[in-house]
Amino acid sequence: MKIIDVKVHILQSPLAEPFAFSQGWVHRRSATLVEVITDVGLTGWGEAFAQGLEPPQIAASAIEHALRPLVLGADPLDIEVLWHRMYHQTRDYGRKGSVVAAISAIDMALWDLAGHHYQQPVHRLLGGAFRTRVQPYATGFYRVRGQGERDRLVDEAHGHLAAGFQLMKVKLGYGVADDIEVIQAIAAAMQGRGVTLMVDTNHGYGRTEALRLGRVLDELDLRWYEEPVAPEDLDGYCELRAKLRTPIAGGENEHTLYGFRDLLGRHAVDIVQPDLGSCGGITAARHIAALAQAHGIEVNPHVWGSAVAQAASLQVIAALPVTHHAVFARDPVLEYDRSSHPFRRDLVTQPIEMTDGFVHIPDRPGLGIEVRRDTLERFRVN
Ligand code: CA
Repeated sequence: MKIIDVKVHILQSPLAEPFAFSQGWVHRRSATLVEVITDVGLTGWGEAFAQGLEPPQIAASAIEHALRPLVLGADPLDIEVLWHRMYHQTRDYGRKGSVVAAISAIDMALWDLAGHHYQQPVHRLLGGAFRTRVQPYATGFYRVRGQGERDRLVDEAHGHLAAGFQLMKVKLGYGVADDIEVIQAIAAAMQGRGVTLMVDTNHGYGRTEALRLGRVLDELDLRWYEEPVAPEDLDGYCELRAKLRTPIAGGENEHTLYGFRDLLGRHAVDIVQPDLGSCGGITAARHIAALAQAHGIEVNPHVWGSAVAQAASLQVIAALPVTHHAVFARDPVLEYDRSSHPFRRDLVTQPIEMTDGFVHIPDRPGLGIEVRRDTLERFRVN
């Protein structure tokens, strides 16, 4: 079997209502999807993470110009070999950001392809399923005006609860005073309802403000406090982790075993959050999971991409060992972005569903998805 083509599909869709996270206003949804095609008719799908502000054309260009020539003609089952080839050949201009996101997309597609070749779900190729279902957490609470949206956000929490979510992640980072007003109101509204909250400031603060917010968060028994400071500020992470009781999470903007070596080796986080479309794909996630296990740090993948990235996330979550073994050990949870996104439900023939508060992990071959060509055509930009 040989790789005979690598196709990139850039999708975009304007949002009816733009929303803000702490780093800016999101006006459109974007996705960079990749399709790796072989001479035997098998194909695999992957995705490069394109967060709300990132032009999807960057990763697309890296795939087309830098990576495609490195994998054409190769055996797609040589996944680890190809990962190192792609990483080494782009090292001098890559290592982080969109180039690694591009590697991630091809790597994800190779795992999907291998699953189709062996007729096994990816989680089985990774060593088997530690779990067959995962509890999703609602990501949302974006701002549509900016500040002063406490009441609307409390209503949103009630909406997530009514939809069956017991875990919710509140976006903060819009000013410490506003953040405190919002999180205290949501926590009060959800009290006694079996809800666990997390927060995410998307590195909207420096250490002093992050700590000031963190002191208030410490009273709320959160599951985690995500990206409190910039990903470069490992000293800041360590300081917050030492001074706060709330578990510190981060890693969606870190890449490969080399980047995560520093985050884990410094014990900068309690929970590490590689994004499969950005960290270097499923191969890198496997490296990172082994590193994290050795350091006694939990892995909980981040996912904000399309249905392709969601499917990859589910497969990896199935294959993650618990970090601290116990009868009632803490399992990873699935990020389930509740904001409007046409490339999720409409992109695959069997979108993920929540049943009784859990998402079932597919055991179909590969990533367990079938991509709908009509949706690709509907949102394609070239
Ligand atoms: Ca985040």
